[in-house]
Amino acid sequence: MDYILLIGNIAILISVSVIFNFISRHWKFNTLQYRILTGILFGLATIIGMIAPAKVAPGVFFDGRSIILSIAGLFAGSLPALLAAAIAATFRYITGGAGVPMGLLVITVSTSIGIFFHVLRERNKIQLTIPVLLGIGYLVHLGMLACTLALPYTQRHEVVNNILIPILTVYPVGFLLVSILFLDSENRIKSVEELSKSEARYKQLVENAQMITVKLNVHGEIIFINRYGLGLLGYSRQEIIGRKAIDTLILKENPGSPYFTELGQRLIGTQEALTTEGSCFSRSGEHLTILWVLTNTVGTSSQPEMLCTGNNITGLVGAQEALRESQIRLKSIMDHTNDLICQIDLNGRHLYVSQSYKKILGYETHDLIGKPFFSFLHPDDLANTITTFKSALLSRAPKSTSVRFRAADGNYVWIESHGNTIINKSGRITGMVVSSRDITEQVKHQKEIEESEFRYRTLLNAIPDLMFVQTNDGVYLDYHCSDESQLLFPPQSFIGKKYTEVLPPTILSLFEDKFKRVKEHLGIEKFEYAAKLQSGELGYFEARVTSFGPDKILSIIRDITDRKRAEKAIQKSEQLLKRQNEELNKRNQKIVSINKELTLAKEKAEESDRLKSAFLANMSHEIRTPMNGMLGFADLLRRPNLPEEKRKLYVDIINANGNQLLAIINDIIDISKIEAGQVITELIPVNITKLYLEIRDQFTPLAKARNLNFIARYPEVGEVITKTDATKLRQVLFNLLSNAIKFTPSGRVETGFSATDENLLFYVMDTGIGIQQEFHNTIFERFRQVEDTISRQQGGTGLGLSISKSLVELLGGSIWLESEPGKGSTFFFTIPYVKIEDVSTHTEQEEVVHPLWHGKKVLIGEDDEANYQYLDSILTGAGIQTVRATSGLDVVEFCKHNPGIDLALINAKMPLMNGYETTKQIKELRGSLPVIVQASFVSTSGKAHAYESGCDAFISKPISKKDLIGLIDRFFS
Ligand code: ADP
Repeated sequence: MDYILLIGNIAILISVSVIFNFISRHWKFNTLQYRILTGILFGLATIIGMIAPAKVAPGVFFDGRSIILSIAGLFAGSLPALLAAAIAATFRYITGGAGVPMGLLVITVSTSIGIFFHVLRERNKIQLTIPVLLGIGYLVHLGMLACTLALPYTQRHEVVNNILIPILTVYPVGFLLVSILFLDSENRIKSVEELSKSEARYKQLVENAQMITVKLNVHGEIIFINRYGLGLLGYSRQEIIGRKAIDTLILKENPGSPYFTELGQRLIGTQEALTTEGSCFSRSGEHLTILWVLTNTVGTSSQPEMLCTGNNITGLVGAQEALRESQIRLKSIMDHTNDLICQIDLNGRHLYVSQSYKKILGYETHDLIGKPFFSFLHPDDLANTITTFKSALLSRAPKSTSVRFRAADGNYVWIESHGNTIINKSGRITGMVVSSRDITEQVKHQKEIEESEFRYRTLLNAIPDLMFVQTNDGVYLDYHCSDESQLLFPPQSFIGKKYTEVLPPTILSLFEDKFKRVKEHLGIEKFEYAAKLQSGELGYFEARVTSFGPDKILSIIRDITDRKRAEKAIQKSEQLLKRQNEELNKRNQKIVSINKELTLAKEKAEESDRLKSAFLANMSHEIRTPMNGMLGFADLLRRPNLPEEKRKLYVDIINANGNQLLAIINDIIDISKIEAGQVITELIPVNITKLYLEIRDQFTPLAKARNLNFIARYPEVGEVITKTDATKLRQVLFNLLSNAIKFTPSGRVETGFSATDENLLFYVMDTGIGIQQEFHNTIFERFRQVEDTISRQQGGTGLGLSISKSLVELLGGSIWLESEPGKGSTFFFTIPYVKIEDVSTHTEQEEVVHPLWHGKKVLIGEDDEANYQYLDSILTGAGIQTVRATSGLDVVEFCKHNPGIDLALINAKMPLMNGYETTKQIKELRGSLPVIVQASFVSTSGKAHAYESGCDAFISKPISKKDLIGLIDRFFS
């Protein structure tokens, strides 16, 4: 193996590579032509190597082919490497020899390894450092060593022995050197490429920069101007290049103009930059102000040049002027403002204070400058203000607070401060501007307003009324109430709603109407209503609706439930009082009338008292007269040998006086009964015509005895029968006729009656002394007598007319009189006419002795002898057998032992046992035995008592024969 030949071969290859490198530097990378040409060049380099190889055996030679092809693969990529490999393979094949297979194999392996690492490099998997390159060199050539297997076996050993050392030394080193060469070349190409790119970018930057860029040569002539500069000045490049900078870019008069002439050359070499402002005119004459920055530079011709870059500040100058004016304005404002404006640093110290501090707080500027803002604050406001200012600093946002600031006179002034941070160019906070306003008056007003609002709020809360503010459309906006239970609904259910959605239908129309009216006349509408509360109770309310400003309505609702209840209670009590009042009035009237009655009664009592005195005197006379007569003649009767005529006369006189006395007593008893209300009428059919016949018979002889003419008139045809009390009617007629005869000295007495449909009218007329008009009413009063000598002469009790009046009224009629003194009197009275057609069975009983009564036995219970004799004479006269018992006990005993008794006639008042008890016991012994009780002055209750005891009938004393017979007849017939 000829190493020298091999090294020379490889050196040729390296030289070829260097030349190739040099040539390829001027080509553009990555074009297809470049890559094909590169492949051809690498192929030619392998051919050159194969022309002068190192021969090892016949047909077997070694050259730098493996290095060239692997380098081609590694640096030029697959296309040039494969092209070069194809050229090399072709040439080797043509050369021929035993080493052709190995030669082709080496070409393939070298190219493949080169391409493989090229791919790895492209993918950034490896960096081509020297060890890496050396490694690749060894890999390629160990591959070449392996290719010796393709040699004929006979030559293989010898070949391996020959090339082993070069493979391990010369080949890898050769590969490394060529690679370094290519690597360097590649880097250089890349740098050149980057530089040109950068230049292009710079040029573009300069051309398009928004600042004028000009280059001047040492003579101050323009040698470059960028596109922006051309545009700004209005020149084309040809027009301006070569012109002097003075008068083109900058006017001579400008302060910085020398820099643009020879004087500006002083800059050159100083490496400093100069800034100057200059004015120039554009081609069209527009005035421009440019702020220039001038620097020295070295041009391509190594000549010093001046680079001038300028900013068009034409607009900025105006802005600066505006800024200056604004500053003046601001200062003027600061000096004259009424606001307190200060600047404080981060420690709160005053850096600036406005003039207003003197005017408002009395401070000179030096009083404040350097002193902390916070040291002037009221201690109570300090903490709050510091917090606010800190917050302003942290948030970098303006903050406000109200504080008390001490004035020069020591008093505190309320100010409202707005703190705004000052931030410098680098974004750091350097302090604050505090703008304050004197709000002492405002605070005072605010306090007054708050106090007033508090007062009104308190007042409002104390008002029990409900208040609602609504829009003109009736939407509830607000409400006030001291007790929410007064509301008809909870607030959330009506606020924001219209009243038509909320109010119950019962009161809706009422409100609608009032709202309408309020909107029309803007006055106040007042009304009352009732509504159910939330509690379910019914409440009464008084509403006042009024307009509240131009677009609102205010409703004030007062709960008048209590008032309504009170009103109702008052109404009730008023009604009660009214009733009570009426009652009291009635009572009052009653009392008045009672008073009147009492007065009358008193007068009457007095009168009665007077009359009674007169009556007593009269009575004494009336009773004594007959009594004297009776006693006197009774004495006379005692005389012995009294002739029969005298004795008869005396008995008649005694009898007449007795009758007179009885009449007086009867009158007194009658009036007492009437007064006691014990007179009971027994209405039975009475034949008036028949009664008048009796009267005619009775009074004709009496009148005749006084020489008077007596006439009793009654209807000739038919009988007049009415239902009345015959005894009482008879008594009235008897009284009136007795008086007529009594008070008529001469002339005539007449009586009669007539019938109307309803009444019977009776009259009793006389031609007697008559009665003065003034006595026409009073003579009907008890004990009343006309004070007249005649009447006094005639005697009498003054009870007859009073009894007659009472009896007539009891019978249902009335009595009156017509009279004239001296001419006579006519008394009239009426009774009801109750017609009875058939009276045959009702006519009054005649005093007859019933034949059946013979054999009848009557027990008379009577202790008084005279009474017994009287009763006995009546009964025996009627054919009855009598038996007497003088006490109640005897009566009972007799009845027990004598069953033959047919009737018992018992006095109510008897010794040992009264008549009522006696009756009771008789009835217990013999219930069927008729018992008649007789009593005097019996009251209604006494009569009832008698009937309760079991008696069958009752008869009052004095007992008339007729009455007694009539009564007994009821039991015996
Ligand atoms: P008395 O006749 O018992 O006095 P009366 O009551 O019967 O009582 O009469 C009252 C008075 O009325 C008589 O006292 C008398 O003065 C007067 N008087 C009654 N009837 C007549 C009469 N027919 N003519 C005149 N005076 C009479």
